Amino acid sequence: MAAVEDVIFLGAGASASEGAPVQKDLFCEFFRTDRTNSSHPENIGRLAKFFRDFFGIDVRDPLSDTMFPSFEETLGILEIAMDRGESFRGYSIATGAPDVQTIREDLIFLIALVLNRTLQNPKGHHRELVNRLEREGRMLCTAFISLNYDILIDNALTELHPGIDIDYGVEFTNYHRECNWQIPRRECSVFLLKLHGSLNWLYCPTCISLTLTPREREVARLVEHTIPCAQCGMPMAPIITPPTFLKGMKNYFLNQIMHTSYEVLKNAKRIIFCGYSFPDADLLVRYLLKRLELNYDPRPDILVLNSYEGKRQASKVLEEQRYKRFFRNKDQVRYLDMTFSDFCRNGVG
Ligand SMILES: [Zn+2]
Repeated sequence: MAAVEDVIFLGAGASASEGAPVQKDLFCEFFRTDRTNSSHPENIGRLAKFFRDFFGIDVRDPLSDTMFPSFEETLGILEIAMDRGESFRGYSIATGAPDVQTIREDLIFLIALVLNRTLQNPKGHHRELVNRLEREGRMLCTAFISLNYDILIDNALTELHPGIDIDYGVEFTNYHRECNWQIPRRECSVFLLKLHGSLNWLYCPTCISLTLTPREREVARLVEHTIPCAQCGMPMAPIITPPTFLKGMKNYFLNQIMHTSYEVLKNAKRIIFCGYSFPDADLLVRYLLKRLELNYDPRPDILVLNSYEGKRQASKVLEEQRYKRFFRNKDQVRYLDMTFSDFCRNGVG
């Protein structure tokens, strides 16, 4: 494997450029479109009740001006309850009603469904990026750190370049089964480190293993709540954590990915943030970058390209401040007025 020179961080803006709804529109998008043509009335019924009970939202109403909570706060509340072994009135197992764990899985199903629909025909920026890197001979000295659950970059890497293997920084049970995914070959693998999990991974909490699901079936498999682990037969669960929720990092595999990200970043010459607004609440990424900044020399150049059509000047200014405020060496931070699609096509030069 060639030494990594560029690390590309993919934030929500990168997926949004391909047609994915931004976080704040996820729920609205679901209840407006997916609710009516879904073949999973049970999940939808539970989610409708959940939004009514927890946030006073009647999803049958016209939704144009409904204020939905963010995905993150919704999932975060449920994760904390599970972590503390606590529950809410009407949501405990004893009452026979859906418990917190079930609602959590329904929410992940919801996200999988929305992303699957909206990203069925992506505009192709991720593919363009992969193509350009290959053309420039930079594919093998580039690593990706994705903060997204979707599999846009995964698909771009596998579809366009069968000669390249994705190294997710963790081991999958698939590697040990015949005619399945192969262990990435060192000499031609590219790191794709997904700090918050991925829609095409399933986690077995019994034998502590991860399984990659074939991409065309990932959503369908998520909906069937009991997919047995190929190793031990016990049920597997999706592995997706909201960015601000630190508990996710207690997970063995996400921890490994965090560690590998650090190892990859420490040799990087450039870190390129794409469509990542660097929110204050995203503490794990901040922690990772601060450790890097203090522990290693020389420090990489930080490039930020977050622009999109119609982005207001005021939010650009605030965003640039957020980046510059955080890093110690301000002059190494270059905030470029460039969109993700520009970067995919032309690079930063
Ligand atoms: Zn298992």
